[in-house]
Amino acid sequence: MGKYKNKNKKQKALIMIVIILALLLVGSRTCRLNRRNLNSDLHNFSSEITHQTNQDSLITQNEETMSEIPQPDKNILLGKLSKSQKDSLLASIDSKYANRDGMYMHYKAYNAFLKMHNAAEKDGIELIIVSAFRDFDHQKRIWNNKWTGRQVLSGNIFATDISDPVKRALEILKFSAMPGTSRHHWGTDIDINSLNNNYFASGRGMREYEWLVEHAHKFGFCQPYTRKNEDRQSGYEEEKWHWSYKPISSGYLKHFQKLVSYEDIAGFEGHEIASQLGVIEKYVLTVNQQCLNQ
Ligand SMILES: [Zn+2]
Repeated sequence: MGKYKNKNKKQKALIMIVIILALLLVGSRTCRLNRRNLNSDLHNFSSEITHQTNQDSLITQNEETMSEIPQPDKNILLGKLSKSQKDSLLASIDSKYANRDGMYMHYKAYNAFLKMHNAAEKDGIELIIVSAFRDFDHQKRIWNNKWTGRQVLSGNIFATDISDPVKRALEILKFSAMPGTSRHHWGTDIDINSLNNNYFASGRGMREYEWLVEHAHKFGFCQPYTRKNEDRQSGYEEEKWHWSYKPISSGYLKHFQKLVSYEDIAGFEGHEIASQLGVIEKYVLTVNQQCLNQ
């Protein structure tokens, strides 16, 4: 009986040991699996952080740029820069990035453009500047040439065929700004590759435009004149070629609203109807929301 009891005890102990060993084995496997999951979670987490940090540094860079920019005086906003203002703010655009010599743009916008140009080049996209900084007198030549019929308007219309000055101005305003109200005065805005929306409707032009829509914002650029919709009901027609360096231009726009009045919009053909047409509210301030500093 005693022997049987002992044998029974031994058996029980053996079963217990087997159970404990089995539990230990399962336990260590679960641990390993958990560790593997944890490792992959950590990997995802750290790559998320790296991505976030890259984005943060881009944003910080833009914020820094904003804080470094001195408040522009009214002459800068109106394209009436002094020589020293031109010297300190504008950079000469290397002819390999432009379709002609002698163009200038804000040096910070130029730095950002060079980065964008290089990134585009790697994707097989060529970005060439066809217009950049224009001062008041340059814009005045464009405007007066259109007003007096020396230069034809888009759609092969001559402004001189329109006798009513309001209608004449509205026709020119489809694609050209009144002197003093052009974003090209600021040096922050450039026209890229073509001045014709049709060019961007197919083939190479379409690929270039699609690249800009997808990537330009990463370099600080936005398209101020998008297709008119609920967000932008008035103002210039869509311009797929016109891109603006937002870290500076969004601040300039705010200052324009504060500092410039209709008395400042003067000195060219038809200037007296600027306020009647509301060019400040309906044209200068009516841009794609993505170009505003929110
Ligand atoms: Zn433009």
